[in-house]
Amino acid sequence: MDYDVIIIGGGPSGLSTALHLQKIAPQLATRSLLLEKEQYPRFKLCAGGLTLDAEIILERLGLNIAEVPHVNADDIHFDFESKGLNIRFPKRHALRVIRREEFDNWLAEKAISRGLEIRESVTVRNIVPESNGVTVETDQGCFRAHVVVGADGSNGITRRCIFPKASVHTARVLEVIAPLKESLTTVGASHNNQHAYFDFSPIPDNIAGYVWDFPTQIKGEPMRCWGIYDTNILADEKRPQLKEPLAKEMSRFGFDLDQYEIKGHPIRWFSPENQMSVPRVLLVGDAVGADPIFGEGISIALGYGAIAARELSESFQRGEFSFRRYRRRVVGSAVGQTLIARWVIAFIVYPLKWRWFQILLWRVLKPIVLLIAWVFVLNWGRRLPQIY
Ligand SMILES: Cc1cc2nc3c(=O)[nH]c(=O)nc-3n(C[C@H](O)[C@H](O)[C@H](O)COP(=O)(O)OP(=O)(O)OC[C@H]3O[C@@H](n4cnc5c(N)ncnc54)[C@H](O)[C@@H]3O)c2cc1C
Repeated sequence: MDYDVIIIGGGPSGLSTALHLQKIAPQLATRSLLLEKEQYPRFKLCAGGLTLDAEIILERLGLNIAEVPHVNADDIHFDFESKGLNIRFPKRHALRVIRREEFDNWLAEKAISRGLEIRESVTVRNIVPESNGVTVETDQGCFRAHVVVGADGSNGITRRCIFPKASVHTARVLEVIAPLKESLTTVGASHNNQHAYFDFSPIPDNIAGYVWDFPTQIKGEPMRCWGIYDTNILADEKRPQLKEPLAKEMSRFGFDLDQYEIKGHPIRWFSPENQMSVPRVLLVGDAVGADPIFGEGISIALGYGAIAARELSESFQRGEFSFRRYRRRVVGSAVGQTLIARWVIAFIVYPLKWRWFQILLWRVLKPIVLLIAWVFVLNWGRRLPQIY
């Protein structure tokens, strides 16, 4: 056997799995290999918003996120037609915004410095689980391992190989990066670089999601990252255009969407019915599913890594690789519980799409919404199993 564990994909879920293995099962980590099809620092389409839970998980791994270039948003606004509620934390930022090429590269460097073997520019083409191991076919030849972790994202080959017929829930997402100076026009004066915005105005038009506007930086230059997210929960066969509501929101702040390059990528979101493992292969991160309400996936991917590492460590101790208990472990964990809660909330908040309900929700029921967010959406990172 070439390796004990092969991790396919070097985004936050794959790297978190490796970093947690290094903490809880160092012997196993030295016999692990991560295969990444790109070369770091590689581009990944993402707004880069990191919640407190992501920071908690990184801190518990002994990593200092402040080393990564970032912009802090002091508060987050959840609005409907520009009015709504704010989330602010005493004495700390509400959201840290990183660029994924920098964040993932930093995470990979940390994993390598702790002994992980990473092979870049290797594209996995097929995964064949057998009774005594798994064969991983790549554009650079075949590798064999006792087990494989599929951390290859929303469109990953691992999931497609082990669950070729499974139904997939994916959100549509568009993103645009614009220079900061243009947001400081008269109308947008309040949209300065300390605030992150989620505006749910597109919901009555059958877009089950929001337009976002985050501060960001590119090579130290302050910028804004705009985008639109649609879970597709409300979409029938005539899916509404995403470009139009994004253009409308941006134009209110003096931006012309047509002036910027628009990029899109799907996000596979978590549903309790999503499959997570077969004997000798388990999935983490977007390969299982991200948060359905916001498409938040970085903290979630880091959380999946903690759970998967524990599952791997115990499976090797037992010498048994059915991963029969993996689903129960994920669903019963803090990350699974927040995902289930968010899935339930998404199926309440988005189908109740009437304008009056959205105004009631974001502007009138503020204390209830904040309480639900505090209990079910945030604060799950601390409840993950200890790694020491
Ligand atoms: C436009 C957009 C904005 C977003 N904004 C946010 C945000 O602000 N905050 C947030 O928390 N989340 C956000 N997300 C979601 C977040 O990006 C994902 O949830 C997160 O990246 C999931 O991490 P992952 O490790 O599971 O997968 P990925 O980050 O997708 O990593 C998968 C890795 O696998 C590699 N790979 C894929 N196929 C192969 C193969 N065949 N062989 C070898 N390697 C392979 C890829 O190159 C990649 O490095 C956003 C997503 C999008 C699309």
